[in-house]
Amino acid sequence: MRIAIGQIMHETNTMFGPPTPVDEFQRQGWETGREILEEETGVRSYLGGMIEAGERHGVKIVPTFSANAHPSGTIERAAFDTMLNNLLAGIRDAGEVDAVCVSLHGAGSAEGIDDIEGTILQAIREQVGPGVPVIATLDLHCHSTDLMIENATALLTVHEYPHVDSYERGFEAVELAVRAVTGTVKPVMHLTRLPMAVAPITSFHGPARMVNERCWEWESKGLLDVTFVHGYPHTDVPIISASVIAVADDDPDLAKRASEDVAGMIWEMREEFRSELPQPADAIREALEHDGQPVVIAEVSDNPGGGSPGSGTHLLRALIEAGVTEATFGFIYDPPTAEQAHDAGVGAEIEVEIGGKIDPANLGDAVRAKAYVKSITDGRYITTSPMGQGGERNLGKMARLVIGGIDVLIGSESHQTIDTGPFLLHGISVDRYKIVALKSQNHFRAGFEPIAAKIIRTDPPGWTTSNLKQLNYQRISRPIWPLDEGVEWSG
Ligand SMILES: [Zn+2]
Repeated sequence: MRIAIGQIMHETNTMFGPPTPVDEFQRQGWETGREILEEETGVRSYLGGMIEAGERHGVKIVPTFSANAHPSGTIERAAFDTMLNNLLAGIRDAGEVDAVCVSLHGAGSAEGIDDIEGTILQAIREQVGPGVPVIATLDLHCHSTDLMIENATALLTVHEYPHVDSYERGFEAVELAVRAVTGTVKPVMHLTRLPMAVAPITSFHGPARMVNERCWEWESKGLLDVTFVHGYPHTDVPIISASVIAVADDDPDLAKRASEDVAGMIWEMREEFRSELPQPADAIREALEHDGQPVVIAEVSDNPGGGSPGSGTHLLRALIEAGVTEATFGFIYDPPTAEQAHDAGVGAEIEVEIGGKIDPANLGDAVRAKAYVKSITDGRYITTSPMGQGGERNLGKMARLVIGGIDVLIGSESHQTIDTGPFLLHGISVDRYKIVALKSQNHFRAGFEPIAAKIIRTDPPGWTTSNLKQLNYQRISRPIWPLDEGVEWSG
């Protein structure tokens, strides 16, 4: 059996930032054919799982094309067309294949195309015909649409946020494809969409965990998959929603029942998904009052993992103003300041202006300070978080600056912090600090929950605020909870 695999992965924040050109994908993640195997084999990623499942089941995996870039503005149309053409050409050049498995994000938008994943799946379906199973893995921060459902044999979305199960979903995609090819199963899907925009919330605890448990109850009753799709609210397209996708074996009624049951549960408990988080000064006070250390403070509203640049200064400024000394911040995205530190060299004292270069009205003015350059690095390390373990992360030129009593890391790539790697790279053992500040919504949990005495999320102004009412939506479908009052849904 031969299965073609490929990937087009982008979480698009259409509200902020310039359009994303093809060079960003080419710079960050662009592989063809065997390069994909070299990059992904053994990595805890969607494609890593697909490759491993192929080996385990004696399937010939044919790698086609893979592109990904970290979250950013609307994908330029020419960039999208190029990526789609490369993927389709790769699948065509793979010759006769029994199935196609693709890794997609689900919240990608290009100029003129709100739903790139529906468009990709439709194009693959047209090319391979109705008889070939096409299975896609998705991020749970996706917009699930009818176009996707109509053109895929099955959609497998991660269950966990942090997405520690992307490898498992990739693995399952190939396993399910094998079973569909041999006729052991006949996947049928049902999608239930809710008029809800859910601010990012972990599945490790709380309401999202409870919903997952209901999903798994249904799975234990014989469904192939039932997933709570949180949706992605930090963009402005009409298809934003929370939803539930159920995949059953040749039983559309069962898929419908499961999907509607879980959706009903989410709707009933929607108030528990309302997010009210402290401002930085309160978060710092709470951290200092806590007995243990380190206390991790995550600045969720400036999360590069959701399309905010990571250059915001609200939390850093509050730490300096509070006179905190036993603190480290990893990290602030500011390429010119990293460059300045590299030019000055280790041991230099420099005058810096951190942040304030992108949307200062929202993300905060520059922090001007004297800084000591403690260390400089290339920003490359291997991920140890269960999320993406074994993959290389490249944060670009980095510097460890000492400002007052605070060790501040500066990076040159807009990435969230998911594990202690950036700190270790600069000789920082986070358990020596009272406060460890970082920028991430929830993915950091996979790397930090095992070592943090306490976790506090703070939500000053920023592009990925959890206070969705602060965002200037123009195109989202209304009414929608929690932006509008008295929203109704009856199933
Ligand atoms: Zn996600």
